[in-house]
Amino acid sequence: MGAPSGAADLAPQVNAVEALLPRDMAATSQRMIRLRWAAGAAVLLATAVAVRLLHLPLPEKPLYLLGVLILAYNLVLLALTGRQVSARPELLLRRARRIVAIQVVLDWMSIVVFLHFTGGITSPGIPFFLIHMLVVTILLPEVPWYLSVSIATAMLAGVALLEAGGMLANHPALAIIPASLHRDPFFILAQVLFFATAATALVLLTASIMTRLRERERQVTALLQSSQAVSSTLSLEEVLLRLAKGAAEAVFTDRASIRLLDETGETLALAAAFGLRPEYLGKGPVELAHSGLDREVLSGGPVIVDQAASDERIQYPREVGEEGIGSILAVPVVGRKGPLGVLRVYSTEAKGFAQDDAELVRAIAGEGAVAIENAMAHQALQKADEDRAQFVRTVTHELRSPVAGAQSLARVLLEATGEELSEKQRDVIERISARLDRLMDLINDLLTLAAAKAPGFQQPPQPVALLEMVQWAVDQQAAAAREKNVALQPELPTAQILVRATREGLGQIFGNLMDNAVKYTPAGGRVAVTAKTEGNAAVIQVADTGMGIPEADLPHLWEEFFRASNARQAGIRGTGLGLSIVKRLVETYGGRIAVQNGEARGAVFTVTLPVLPDSLHS
Ligand code: ADP
Repeated sequence: MGAPSGAADLAPQVNAVEALLPRDMAATSQRMIRLRWAAGAAVLLATAVAVRLLHLPLPEKPLYLLGVLILAYNLVLLALTGRQVSARPELLLRRARRIVAIQVVLDWMSIVVFLHFTGGITSPGIPFFLIHMLVVTILLPEVPWYLSVSIATAMLAGVALLEAGGMLANHPALAIIPASLHRDPFFILAQVLFFATAATALVLLTASIMTRLRERERQVTALLQSSQAVSSTLSLEEVLLRLAKGAAEAVFTDRASIRLLDETGETLALAAAFGLRPEYLGKGPVELAHSGLDREVLSGGPVIVDQAASDERIQYPREVGEEGIGSILAVPVVGRKGPLGVLRVYSTEAKGFAQDDAELVRAIAGEGAVAIENAMAHQALQKADEDRAQFVRTVTHELRSPVAGAQSLARVLLEATGEELSEKQRDVIERISARLDRLMDLINDLLTLAAAKAPGFQQPPQPVALLEMVQWAVDQQAAAAREKNVALQPELPTAQILVRATREGLGQIFGNLMDNAVKYTPAGGRVAVTAKTEGNAAVIQVADTGMGIPEADLPHLWEEFFRASNARQAGIRGTGLGLSIVKRLVETYGGRIAVQNGEARGAVFTVTLPVLPDSLHS
């Protein structure tokens, strides 16, 4: 399955080619065409030099004609390759192959003509054949080595025989070549044999190097693809599955599994599987004590089991046999702190894996280990966040009733016994009541925040009329604004704008923004609320003429418990939780929120939410 090594294995180069896409073929065509410009020009130039400067007895005209012919058919080929005929890959591939084949045939014919006009079997140009064979072997791995050697040898022998038999004239390239040399059978035989031997050696060597190179290229691509696939997700389950798949595909099998060590470090639990039957997967836990294979893998490098069903290192040989597994390649998945588990790929055949495969799968597992650890860390963080939210929910819930009780007691005390209280007592009770109100605010915000963090805790989003909720939030603040002498200036369009959210969520978002705007704007100020649509988004702006936000504090505004310095100094009550809740909710609904200071003064909050398509026109 890996790169074949040694001359005996050279024929399967075809494997590598099956993967060749039309694009590669087209690139091959282009390269051949580029090379041919040089070849055509070289024929013209070399002829001129040989005849004009060196005064060699070469037939000048036919050689010029040949040079021009090569350039001319190259031009036609260029036009042919440039035409895009079909988008279907199989048709494209067939066409690209045909064009390459035409090129090879035309070139061979040109070389034969060139040989003939430079002395036939005595031509110093015979090595050109070798150059062309080299190019063909590099660019067209599907042409079997023996075919290109036989055709080239046959062509050389053909020209030699035709010239020796007098059917074709002989044009010796050099004056010193004896006139009868091209008829000497020993010379012909020696030339042809030497040529065939050199051609065979050249093509075999080149093919072997190219096969290795192509295999390396394929391995690098497989590694890159697998590494991209596993690192593009943070879901552990997905990472493991992609890793198993990537490893299997890289070595051309369709079965793989990943087992991770459990907390005891003694058992390997199934974490992901690909292409294996449930019967096989349910065979039971893999215990290190009974699985020599996994002990070996975890203590070192990759292990190839050539005969899986009869290997004593396997814990479940019968099941392996029933699953039709011939051989197994197992590699360790090693994290930063040590082994995490074992990745195995399975082949139907015995001896299905080579050392190269082991190295490739090991490299894939190495990349995978990083992704696994990242996903695990992400999972742990999420869990911690959820645990924290759960804790906050429980605690705040428990705090709510006593605080609410104390709040109403304080109110009863103020109302019922108001007359009998001294000024001082009344003041103290009022302060107690105000502190309890703040405590209740904090509890409510903490509860909302914890709810926003708990997955599934919120109701599922559905189409909601956005402006209705914005208007609701404005109305909620009407009394407070009037009391404070702050003018509310909503300018909302009448059109219906639907967004995917919940009424409660939108109420929280705009309720908080309006509450802040009124709270941080002193008497005589204004709070303007506008809404419009821009493309597929609704843009709602809450702008006040209040104290604004110090520039240095702007980036921290969304952090939990953060309060800007000016708000703290002014002694305005707040928990610093509202905006973090708002941001979280806006993002849950696929939107964005931004803040900036108004041009004159005050703060401007801009919420952008995606609008449900049809709602704009209804
Ligand atoms: P808080 O309960 O303190 O209002 P928020 O999370 O709602 O908490 O707001 C965080 C901080 O952002 C506030 O403490 C305040 O400093 C600042 N802020 C929010 N809205 C405004 C606004 N409209 N004008 C000025 N500052 C604001």
